[in-house]
Amino acid sequence: MIISCKCGKYQFTIKKSDMPNNGREVQCGICNEVWFHGLGSQNNKLSINKSFKNPFLYQLIIYIIIILSIIGIVDMLEEFFISLNTQFQNYYVAKEQLIQKILTIIKK
Ligand SMILES: [Zn+2]
Repeated sequence: MIISCKCGKYQFTIKKSDMPNNGREVQCGICNEVWFHGLGSQNNKLSINKSFKNPFLYQLIIYIIIILSIIGIVDMLEEFFISLNTQFQNYYVAKEQLIQKILTIIKK
């Protein structure tokens, strides 16, 4: 069976016979972390580790979602922003041109 260290960086293969049904204390040979490993907690821990395995990618996705939401909100309020200041029209024109450019690159 495979168990993951609490540090999240290392995984160990141990014999199933070395792990009693009610769990036992284990120690990571690399970072020296000691924790109690119960069989029931294995699945929970693995699924938590999976979603945070790549925190950079996770953060990047969050940032992209936030940026897209802001662009979406600004788009919805296009007329409002232009009525506040006609200079905002430049933003929408620039954005249109950028989208057109990206589209022509994709189409190539
Ligand atoms: Zn470790």
